[in-house]
Amino acid sequence: MNRVLVTGGAGFLGSHLCDRLVERGDDVLCVDNFFTGSKRNVAHLLNHPYFELMRHDVTFPLYVEVDRIFNLACPASPIHYQLDPVQTTKTSVHGAINVLGLAKRVKARILQASTSEVYGDPEVHPQPEEYWGRVNPIGIRSCYDEGKRCAETLFFDYHRQHHLQIKVVRIFNTYGPRMHPADGRVVSNFICQALAGKDLTIYGDGSQSRSFCYVDDLIDGMLQMMDTRVEFTGPVNLGNSSEFTMLELAEQVLSIVGGPSKLCFKPLPQDDPRQRQPDIALAEKELGWSPKVGLTDGLRETVAYFRRVLDL
Ligand code: NAD
Ligand code: UDP
Ligand code: UDP
Repeated sequence: MNRVLVTGGAGFLGSHLCDRLVERGDDVLCVDNFFTGSKRNVAHLLNHPYFELMRHDVTFPLYVEVDRIFNLACPASPIHYQLDPVQTTKTSVHGAINVLGLAKRVKARILQASTSEVYGDPEVHPQPEEYWGRVNPIGIRSCYDEGKRCAETLFFDYHRQHHLQIKVVRIFNTYGPRMHPADGRVVSNFICQALAGKDLTIYGDGSQSRSFCYVDDLIDGMLQMMDTRVEFTGPVNLGNSSEFTMLELAEQVLSIVGGPSKLCFKPLPQDDPRQRQPDIALAEKELGWSPKVGLTDGLRETVAYFRRVLDL
């Protein structure tokens, strides 16, 4: 039986990952400081004999015995990671040092949940892993982008210097049940607004694009990446390559939810990337992975979830 540590395990992606690990028979230690995650996301696992929840902040050392580590701890939505930007950088950088130190001591294989944000506002489209990115080092998104870039650096230096078995995935916009309703991300915003009969807030003119991956597909990719041959470190992009503008997304949400909502236009936030689409050729080749759930089906599941939790 594998003993698996999931940092950030009570968050959106982390809780789905814990579900899948427990389901397949792993012994799971979920560590979280509940900054953006919640016990509710893993409440259904608490009585499982092979699931354990620990309140802990990854910026502090952690001494446990495990075989595998998934490092997801870090607020992911712009409004959350900008609330306390210094803590965001510390979580990415000190957090990475601590989990890497842990992996080194116990000889665990370790996976980093990196992000498409390492590409910044890209001049290359779609983004392949070889692209080095265009990131503002001093802007309001930098605490997250540069923190995640430094974490990647640390992963590769621990790999080169201490021969750690590392895996790095760059996750593109992912959505689904258990997203935080108030995290300000576009999918949760649009769905919650539509369900409440409010107008959907389009930032800028809505022509900027993103590519949205359903959570189940993403977790498949992460699990497959952890089990790839030892020499394959990544970084590897994980995401859905179907690209939509925010106007197209709003139309889809409105057609699923119905109701009286219209669109209202708000200013575009600083450093908001114009476009983003993963090149997933490497994931297809190395993991045999590609996403299966289309936007309409994924949005339906997510709408059903928010209807339930918001009682709308
Ligand atoms: P989330 O905010 O729901 O989850 C992050 C979790 O980390 C939360 O449970 C939070 O409480 C916990 N956390 C934050 N700081 C911590 C700390 N110092 N110590 C311990 N726990 C801490 O976000 P998510 O969408 O589930 O993202 C999970 C990971 O995936 C993040 O590392 C994020 O950067 C990455 N990612 C997500 C997306 C996406 O679209 N969802 C895209 C790219 C990358
Ligand atoms: N660390 C940890 N758990 C462990 C081993 C190490 O949290 O099981 C932390 C430790 O506090 C240290 C960091 O990981 O600050 C990096 O460890 P490493 O051994 O790489 O560096 P060093 O201890 O030599 O600074
Ligand atoms: N966005 C929007 N309305 C909202 C929230 C976000 O138009 O209510 C836009 C935002 O400006 C960005 C895109 O949607 O261009 C995706 O934003 P999100 O915060 O979900 O993710 P990220 O910018 O990190 O990709």
